[in-house]
Amino acid sequence: MERFVLGLDLGGTKINAAVLDPAGNVLSSAREKTEAQLGAEAVLERIVQTGQKALQAAGIGAEQLYAAGIGSPGPLDWRSGVIIESAHLHFDNFPLGPRLQQSFGCPVFVDNDVNAGTYGEYKKGAAAGAEYVLGMFVGTGIGGGIVTHGRIHHGFSRNAGEVGHMIVLAGGPRCNCGSRGCLEALASRTGIVRGLRKAVKDGYKTSLTKNHGKRLEEVSSGALKEAYQREDKLVRKAIKRAAKYIGIGIGSLINVLGPEVVVLGGGVIEALGDEMLPIIQRSTARVAFEYSLNGVNIVRAQLGDDAGVIGAAIIAKERFETQTGGKPPEAASEASR
Ligand SMILES: [Zn+2]
Repeated sequence: MERFVLGLDLGGTKINAAVLDPAGNVLSSAREKTEAQLGAEAVLERIVQTGQKALQAAGIGAEQLYAAGIGSPGPLDWRSGVIIESAHLHFDNFPLGPRLQQSFGCPVFVDNDVNAGTYGEYKKGAAAGAEYVLGMFVGTGIGGGIVTHGRIHHGFSRNAGEVGHMIVLAGGPRCNCGSRGCLEALASRTGIVRGLRKAVKDGYKTSLTKNHGKRLEEVSSGALKEAYQREDKLVRKAIKRAAKYIGIGIGSLINVLGPEVVVLGGGVIEALGDEMLPIIQRSTARVAFEYSLNGVNIVRAQLGDDAGVIGAAIIAKERFETQTGGKPPEAASEASR
């Protein structure tokens, strides 16, 4: 019997699933809303449903899975599969991996969602072929993933890679994490919009208030891009400032980690990458040492929304093989049950 692997990506607003064949090709995918407000048990049920939808679309049953992987917001323990905390998803020491294992009847491997996205880009996307990779995903927040020697760097804490909470402006704006001046507070979509809101309050004008009111509610990355293209001065300044801080963060990380490829993804980069990348590169070059930056590529992610599910599936495949001593799934899966 041919065996398959299921990749899952749990986000704050949506859940993605994909079935991969033994060669790592995506056979089918599915998507559902997370409905985080319904609580952990309801979210778990929706994850299972999304996985089953992808299985149905591929025309296979759960008994044909040898493993599944899921990328989840953290902090989490990738070894035990327990989500330590996720305020938004109402997870509190929630055994996500073990519970999904019961539902799908196969080993389920858990990792941080941004680690999974970075790993997907490393294996199949913009960083394929590199041995040292830094992933940075700029959206509602800013997440990061580090690949060293071809492996995800989890660190002693098991939660390394929180690039969004690097302080890039001491005493800067307050971050959701409680600190001041985190990269996320300055350059995520939330941070950019918060800065614009403050400017409007101080009397500056932006075209965004026409559709989003003076409170600038629900300004998407797409709306920021449109305003940028309309030559909205305030928005242009805000985007350029965000790009500058992203570059400061990347430059510092290049000095510390020595990556070969820096992959930039997430909603803000998808919408405004063309506008931001040259500024990010200039800003990075001012901070990174010449010898550290030499030969380093700063590129845009290639897999879009699929990066997380592909990464999660490949993580599951590899960790399964490690557990079973490198045996292929056909030979090893019976033993693992
Ligand atoms: Zn922070």
